[in-house]
Amino acid sequence: MTEPTQAANFLHKLISKDLAEGRVARVVTRFPPEPNGYLHIGHAKSISVNFGLAEQFGGVCNLRFDDTNPEKESQEYIESIQNDVRWLGYTWDGEVRFASSYFQQLFDWAVYLVEQGQAYVCDLSADEARAYRGTLTEPGRNSPYRDRAVAENLDLLRRMKAGEFEEGSRVLRTKIDMASPNMNMRDPIIYRIRKVSHHQTGDDWCIYPTYDFAHGQEDAIEGVTHSICTLEFEDHRPLYDWYIEHLPVPHRPYQYEFGRLNTSYTVTSKRKLKQLVDDGRVAGWDDPRLPTLAGMRRLGYTPAAIRRFCDMVGTTRSDGVVDVAMLEHAIRDDLNANAPRAMCVIEPLKLVLLNYPEDTLEQLTAAAHPTREEMGERCIPFTRELYIEREDFREQANKKFKRLVLGKRVRLRNAYVVKAEAVVKDDSGEIIEVHCQLIEATLGKDPADGVKPRGVIHWVSATRGKRAEVRLYDRLFTHAAPDKGGDNFMAYINPDSLVVKVDCVIEPGLLDALPEQNFQFERQGYFVADRYDHSAEHPVFNRTIGLRDTRAKSGNQGA
Ligand code: ATP
Ligand code: MG
Repeated sequence: MTEPTQAANFLHKLISKDLAEGRVARVVTRFPPEPNGYLHIGHAKSISVNFGLAEQFGGVCNLRFDDTNPEKESQEYIESIQNDVRWLGYTWDGEVRFASSYFQQLFDWAVYLVEQGQAYVCDLSADEARAYRGTLTEPGRNSPYRDRAVAENLDLLRRMKAGEFEEGSRVLRTKIDMASPNMNMRDPIIYRIRKVSHHQTGDDWCIYPTYDFAHGQEDAIEGVTHSICTLEFEDHRPLYDWYIEHLPVPHRPYQYEFGRLNTSYTVTSKRKLKQLVDDGRVAGWDDPRLPTLAGMRRLGYTPAAIRRFCDMVGTTRSDGVVDVAMLEHAIRDDLNANAPRAMCVIEPLKLVLLNYPEDTLEQLTAAAHPTREEMGERCIPFTRELYIEREDFREQANKKFKRLVLGKRVRLRNAYVVKAEAVVKDDSGEIIEVHCQLIEATLGKDPADGVKPRGVIHWVSATRGKRAEVRLYDRLFTHAAPDKGGDNFMAYINPDSLVVKVDCVIEPGLLDALPEQNFQFERQGYFVADRYDHSAEHPVFNRTIGLRDTRAKSGNQGA
């Protein structure tokens, strides 16, 4: 496994240098989500970079909602984002911040640009503006409104703000250079008219600033030293710098970019995630099959595993798709080390011990964890009637089948060796009971006659075990790059991404499980008590991940 790369990444080096050379006294970063969806694994990377760097250099990181697009934003998203950041284990500096709380200051700076003759109100329609803008290979043309007098611009801007004009009829633009090879510099828009209420500012505004006009200035207001974003903003950096250099801002922030993180077998665009939610293909933004942090949390991922994964993938200047197996490896590693063990039979088949008295109850003990003694022991009741996994029994099988076969022996995990003697079938020929002999004196010992069991299987007492619902989750998509072909990604949804089993049987001790507690169900995989639906009366466990990566083409990456 690779060692954490965070310590040596290019951002880390750059900040070390800024501090060493005295350009920066204290590091201030920010994580600036737009509250238009739930956070996903890509955001976790951005969070770990921004909060992680601040932490490593003794600085601070702000949480700032970039809420300049009121139509798509909501309070639900604002709350979920705060919960997710906290859950990952990070603390932002002071209160949560909102771009919208700077709207007045941003407007004042827009007025300033107009007064300086560096911004103008433009009446071109969207289509006209597009035609004037030129292309990557052709320069644009100046808008016919570019040379409006300052007084006229001020009057029109004031009236835009007062709601006198229709949406789309006018915009405020910066006067930079319509011939710039960088399209972002061709008189970019500062304000648009949008007659919509805002979740924070209500109906105070009917003009809203663009991302480009807002972002750098928000950084300046907050004293951000390193404004770290993803590579798609690289071409916006000259504009970021232009605003900072032309406005009387209180502080000089700098923008740096790194490559986005994406994982295979999923989609991470908020638009696509929203489509899955809105179309009912999943049960909500926190469906355990989604790569949202709320979904991963419900699936049983731990903050430690996600942080570790973000470290492992490194921080570079290129976008890449990381094999989801690496993420799965991170959670297996964490749960293998930390999750208590328990037994659960998912598809029960009754096993009757013919030579074991009906009214006897033995309380066997087993380690909660194979290597961590401090986690203590658990009590497992052993009785004449047990359940084993249906697939762990066969009437006939070759030597490769290391489980229970008619006429052969197997060890019951944490208990005795048994030998299958007979089966009982129903009218349709299905096996409904396996009758066995318990081999005496085999608790923790091999049989005295030297005939070894074929393997080990898990079990639960039929009379003392408890009913449970188990939700077997699998990857949501069958294709490694489901959205490679654009919006066709829905075609690759795995029809078996959720299989619900309602007749499972668990060790009675599992009734004490708290929601969100992780376990290894021996021989089955890692499971978590469902965050919302689990209770002692109605136990519900979600499969986080199997014990090992059975899909891996080579080697065993798993536990
Ligand atoms: P999406 O494309 O999923 O809608 P976004 O970039 O629009 O994402 P924002 O809410 O604007 O989402 O993102 C907040 C921060 O998270 C930004 O700084 C953005 O660069 C970063 N971010 C978003 N997606 C990723 C990703 N896949 N990898 C790394 N950082 C990301
Ligand atoms: Mg965005």
